Amino acid sequence: MPELPEVETIARGLHKRIAGDIIESVWLGEKPQPLKSSAAEIAAVLEHSRIVHVRRVGKHMVFDLERSHISKSASRNPQTHSKIPERAQWIVHLGMTGQLLIGPPEAPLLKHTHAVLKLKSGRELRFVDMRRFGRLSVVRLTPDAGTGFGAAGLEPLETDLEGFIPLFQGRKTPIKSALLNQKLLSGVGNIYADESLFRAKVRPRRRASSLTRAEFQKLHKGLQQVLREAIKAGGSSVSDYVDAEGREGFFQLKHYVYGREGKPCLVCRTPIKRVIIAGRSSHYCPHCQK
Ligand SMILES: [Zn+2]
Repeated sequence: MPELPEVETIARGLHKRIAGDIIESVWLGEKPQPLKSSAAEIAAVLEHSRIVHVRRVGKHMVFDLERSHISKSASRNPQTHSKIPERAQWIVHLGMTGQLLIGPPEAPLLKHTHAVLKLKSGRELRFVDMRRFGRLSVVRLTPDAGTGFGAAGLEPLETDLEGFIPLFQGRKTPIKSALLNQKLLSGVGNIYADESLFRAKVRPRRRASSLTRAEFQKLHKGLQQVLREAIKAGGSSVSDYVDAEGREGFFQLKHYVYGREGKPCLVCRTPIKRVIIAGRSSHYCPHCQK
């Protein structure tokens, strides 16, 4: 499952490669599972739109689209023949195995390709998803819609300590579950929750409300550090992920606890423990974390 750093890496890679390009035509597969909007609506919104920006919102990829059209009032009055850009967004959730690949049209069509966008530059952007948990949707934005699609929780990298602490106050759930709660923070997954709790020296089962201010401070700092390091390293997915160009893109970030059950803690040599919290594996050092 791609986590925040992977989605951020893919979004940045796509932005660098296709921002400014225009979608000329769209082909959508016959499997309805990946589509949250109807195929006709997706095609209608994407075709002839210019890709202004590709960015990450939570674990979603958002393509900001623009299309020039002449407004009805303006066309009635030739004096003010102004073009008002129509704004829309294409929202992609990669699910477990979704990939967005850019390549030449002659590149072989992979099995499980659900969408092909022909770009004006001559390239194609393809959505491939083996397990079909990925989701595609579109929204048309009204002029006062602001930045459009937003995630439910706060962005962990844009939330300061004073915004971070109140998220957990009064919560009796384990701190690990609270970190994974997408309504509180957006985009934090299992790996980065475990790694940030190790950095904060806090056990995953501790009640969220029991952390001291000093512990929250370390957790906030640890979470931002681990996410930034992973983004810098190009994401650290454990799946066989490929980046937008289709090459193996991700380096494994050094994990202190995640996936290291029974192995010696890199700080104190105590074997790392694994427990299940709310159905998810959680890893911690019983010596370093309190
Ligand atoms: Zn330790």
